[in-house]
Amino acid sequence: MRYLILGSGPAGIAAAKGARTLDKDAEVVIATEEHAAPYLRPSLPDLVSGEREISGLANPQGKDLAERKIRVLWGKRARRLDAAKNRVFFSDGSEETYNFLCIATGGRPILPAALMGAPGSFLFLNSLGDALRVRERAMRSDTTVVYGPGYLGIEAARALRKIGNQVVWINPGLPRFGNPISGDVEARVVDQLRSKGVKTMEGTEIADVIDVDGRIYDVLTTGGGQVRCSLIVVATERLPGIGFLEGSGVKAGAGVLVSEYLGTNVSNIYAAGDCAEVYDINRRESRINFGWRSAIKQGQLAGENMAGGGKVYIKNTEDYFGLLYGASLPERVGE
Ligand SMILES: Cc1cc2nc3c(=O)[nH]c(=O)nc-3n(C[C@H](O)[C@H](O)[C@H](O)COP(=O)(O)OP(=O)(O)OC[C@H]3O[C@@H](n4cnc5c(N)ncnc54)[C@H](O)[C@@H]3O)c2cc1C
Repeated sequence: MRYLILGSGPAGIAAAKGARTLDKDAEVVIATEEHAAPYLRPSLPDLVSGEREISGLANPQGKDLAERKIRVLWGKRARRLDAAKNRVFFSDGSEETYNFLCIATGGRPILPAALMGAPGSFLFLNSLGDALRVRERAMRSDTTVVYGPGYLGIEAARALRKIGNQVVWINPGLPRFGNPISGDVEARVVDQLRSKGVKTMEGTEIADVIDVDGRIYDVLTTGGGQVRCSLIVVATERLPGIGFLEGSGVKAGAGVLVSEYLGTNVSNIYAAGDCAEVYDINRRESRINFGWRSAIKQGQLAGENMAGGGKVYIKNTEDYFGLLYGASLPERVGE
């Protein structure tokens, strides 16, 4: 028996361990586009702010993979799935077969259309590499624009202010896919950020970005505002990274559609974590349950169910974007 898991985030690792727990003799393989050992994505802003070193970002879930005979193939980005032949093709030209597949490829941040014409102006804050790039460039920047709603925008603004950047947070206030933080907490936290010198522009979009001299950019907003900066940090919502499933026959909406058992419409393919749109048997609706804790819970269940576990996923609101590492949001901004 061969279990193949795509993605080395919390859902992917938990799925590999779940399959191993119920199937001691199987081959369990994680294939991931990452080159870095598993890390704590929620702590990336702390790397930017200097509150944590890279060594403090290691995801403890990743420690005992070799011991559990879980093999990890690094630098493998899935680019196509042939579900009829149980085969995944990767961008480096290699391919892997499986008896059971778990898709745990998480999400990718949305890029606002206005930034597409100014590629040098912005950086994402989504991966370890992103965080290192943001820190490096922000250390040489004076003014940084943060673009993105809710928790991720707040965290990026907080971290950049901490290293002394002048920070302008453009909060588009987009409808959220995930569970928004409560309006009350968000208002308090934003007040705190303002008192620390973060300027905020609420309910407005980036309309255009003008490259002034290759290092300085003018950000124009739909509300008629203009901000001169040397860096834009894109801290937007993450949408499922599942483009490689196109033409595979695996059904997807915003995310991979899975039943309450986390199985897709293809009987030997499962999905878990931020890329999965899970059927909630209590609410009778499908939703993506973004969040670290939820990813671990789903991953474990999908892994076990691939190996015959037969358990139902019951959503618990506390699994939903809970703050796991470090302090709560109000504490983080120094309330
Ligand atoms: C800055 C930041 C702060 C956050 N803070 C919090 C927080 O405080 N609390 C919280 O609960 N959540 C937080 N989150 C969200 C949390 O990180 C995610 O919900 C969680 O990581 C989802 O886990 P996952 O395993 O589903 O996906 P991911 O962690 O995104 O892992 C997916 C993995 O798949 C890999 N991959 C993607 N596409 C492919 C492909 N085609 N082929 C192979 N590999 C691929 C990716 O490189 C990645 O390693 C934060 C996110 C960010 C970006």
